[in-house]
Amino acid sequence: MIKAVLIDIDNTLLDFHKCAPLAVKNAFIKYGINYKEEYAPIFLKINDSLWQEIENGTLTREELFKIRFKRVFSALDIDFNAEKIETEFRKELFNSAIAVDGAMDMLKYLSVKYKLYAASNGMSDQQINRLKIAGMFDYFTDFFLSEKLGYQKPDKRFFDGVFKALKGVLPSETALIGDSISADIKGGLLCGIFTVWYNHNKTAPSIEIKPNFTIESLSEINKIL
Ligand SMILES: [Mg+2]
Repeated sequence: MIKAVLIDIDNTLLDFHKCAPLAVKNAFIKYGINYKEEYAPIFLKINDSLWQEIENGTLTREELFKIRFKRVFSALDIDFNAEKIETEFRKELFNSAIAVDGAMDMLKYLSVKYKLYAASNGMSDQQINRLKIAGMFDYFTDFFLSEKLGYQKPDKRFFDGVFKALKGVLPSETALIGDSISADIKGGLLCGIFTVWYNHNKTAPSIEIKPNFTIESLSEINKIL
């Protein structure tokens, strides 16, 4: 029987792929850099690959902050101080909270049946602030953020920290909903958690990592939990 539900934040509850380009745009505007809509996929591709390196343990968050906009500017052939834009981008992102379609309804539905916990590799203060702006904060009993736990999903030690705090709740009594196969699903399966993959991009299933359940819309959650 499921007692606790862990929910990823970015691209599961809050639409990072909408929030982040808007934050880039506002940061560019602040410094008078001409922003074009075609920059968004370029930024997201570079950003996603850097976060992938963090998940793999080959890059730290601090290193990402240093190189992210250097890479973006190099790809866009823009000559500007990357550090200034990084700082401004994170200020903008701190206050951006565009919900994923169906996320609020899912939280309302699940919170009646289970205790809910956020589980994110993002920055602690930033993620909590964004959940507050989105009106999602009060649905959660607690927040598990890698910055505080000292380890990132999919590292088993992230989940060890979670279960230490969940006192008495077993992995087999826990579900995890997330969009990342390599962070959420891989990590959850390693620990024996019931995993629900939110495959919003309709990407091909992984051969090695098999979630217990896959949904393409958050509204499907009531079929599973
Ligand atoms: Mg995510």
